Amino acid sequence: MNKIKFPNGKKFIFTIVDDTDDAFCDKIKPVYDILYKNGLRTTKTVWVKPVRDPKFSKGDSLENPDYLDFILDIKKKGFEIALHNVGSGDYKRSEILDGLNQYKEILGQNPGLHINHSYNPDNIYCGSKRFSFPLNMIVKKMYSQYNAFYGEVKNSKYFWGDFHKKLIKYSRNYEIDDINTLKRNPYMPYSDKQYEDYCNQWYSSTFASNQWMFKKMVNKKSIDRLEKEGGVCILYTHLGYYFKKGKVDPHFKQAIEYLGQKKNACFMPVTEVLNLLQENKIKNNIPEYMPFWFKKRIELHSLITRIKYRYIIKKDDYHFKQSYDYKD
Ligand SMILES: [Zn+2]
Repeated sequence: MNKIKFPNGKKFIFTIVDDTDDAFCDKIKPVYDILYKNGLRTTKTVWVKPVRDPKFSKGDSLENPDYLDFILDIKKKGFEIALHNVGSGDYKRSEILDGLNQYKEILGQNPGLHINHSYNPDNIYCGSKRFSFPLNMIVKKMYSQYNAFYGEVKNSKYFWGDFHKKLIKYSRNYEIDDINTLKRNPYMPYSDKQYEDYCNQWYSSTFASNQWMFKKMVNKKSIDRLEKEGGVCILYTHLGYYFKKGKVDPHFKQAIEYLGQKKNACFMPVTEVLNLLQENKIKNNIPEYMPFWFKKRIELHSLITRIKYRYIIKKDDYHFKQSYDYKD
């Protein structure tokens, strides 16, 4: 187990990686006001360019001046800004490189973190490529429409893997069905030979893509357990969903306030968390690569998590987005 030495005598970490889907300036701001008021500093991904596939995706980009003001404001407050592809839809190499330049010009630094968006063809090692044999074959069969990704394919017009390797320090893989992400994957951040050409280190995240899942994963009981276990939570969600019918999701507000009151809680954005884990990993002699069977096991855990919340406990985005709760 990766025994963590937390900064300032703290005892556990809670952070969020926020997928920017559905984030519009007026509705996302009240959600971040709650995080900020309670002392949290998390990671928000952004699109540089406007959405190109409005049938599937929506949300503001850095080209919207009000939204840009909001992003610059939370950045100043200590939140981390990261990339969610340069935009939603079909972006080819030259536009991606242009978007990366635009990102740097606007935010004063390159993105250090990127997460793949939905069906973007420029996604990096996406779909069944996220798994090794034999699970990759199963995933390919199960999600046959989720396989056209070319970000790391060198002769493709969507290739940007060389820039991904140069800029992006940490990539996200494997969904964890537990608030304590680190307990399930003590190797974080780790390297993976399967993806070494165009990626650097990797991390896992707690699966909580919407407020239904958030409520299941993050509540008083699970927060108390995270504290007791001295754990680390890196929660993946879409905070753009959380403002509906004129207000921020009440459970989210309550849970964040509960976290905010915890004297033992350490709040820092994802990159800072992973940097800290890396230091501890070296001190604790934890290997850089996951052992063979551990990798197989966590791949299976990740796939089972997806299947569980799609077909058994129907709370994933497929179900959430068809519900009354998703409507404005
Ligand atoms: Zn997305």
